[in-house]
Amino acid sequence: TRTPIIAGNWKMFKTVSEATAFVNEIKGGAEVAGVESVVCAPYTCLPALVEAVKGTSIKVGAQNMHWEENGAFTGEISGLMLQDLGVHYVIIGHSERRAYYAETDETVNKKVHAAFKYGVTPIVCVGEKLEEREAGQTKDVCKVQTEAAFAGLSAELAKQVVVAYEPIWAIGTGKSSTAADAQDVIGYIRSLIAALYDSSVADAVRIQYGGSVKPNNVTEYMGEQDIDGALVGGASLEPASYIALVQGA
Ligand code: 13P
Repeated sequence: TRTPIIAGNWKMFKTVSEATAFVNEIKGGAEVAGVESVVCAPYTCLPALVEAVKGTSIKVGAQNMHWEENGAFTGEISGLMLQDLGVHYVIIGHSERRAYYAETDETVNKKVHAAFKYGVTPIVCVGEKLEEREAGQTKDVCKVQTEAAFAGLSAELAKQVVVAYEPIWAIGTGKSSTAADAQDVIGYIRSLIAALYDSSVADAVRIQYGGSVKPNNVTEYMGEQDIDGALVGGASLEPASYIALVQGA
């Protein structure tokens, strides 16, 4: 009974006019009953996107936020500011932010709490590096990251979290995880949530796979029992491809 969620992560792509043109092209096609469709865009595009999706079922997400409401944090954007715009989702702890912008399990947890405080739903990214996979540490890494992300969250909020399992070696490489391998890790992540809370929470949390998801492989992932959608980079940038992803879910 979990609603599948396809989220595009545009990363640092698209101007405002490109973003609004994109929404106009995906309207209808990317609105599929029983599938949630989310576009996570650069901050500069968010106000125009929130306007553009009005009257559609498409939702808008940000790609990061600060955990404080405001303050002397040059260049940062707060949850209050996202709420003020009408943004529904925020990606937290993407591997690119962990790798290039010093995000840690601790800042991820602070951001998750702050997102809920301002009514924005976090999409929390976890996933192992290639060396970690090769060393057989995939599940250990995901355990540490998942437990840290959920630390201090009530069961009621925990149920609303979206987790994105993104093995780093699969991001932007065209080397996607097999559906069976992704299911193995995602099923494990669900079991971790059951251990932290209970099975009703674990059954409610949506867990996406991310990493070289394309229109031609999305359906395979969706066929696995614990995979509830996808977080998609490159293939979310073209309207036709994005529509195909949502229709394939
Ligand atoms: P790609 O779909 O381009 O591999 O990117 C995945 C990703 O990082 C989504 O957050």
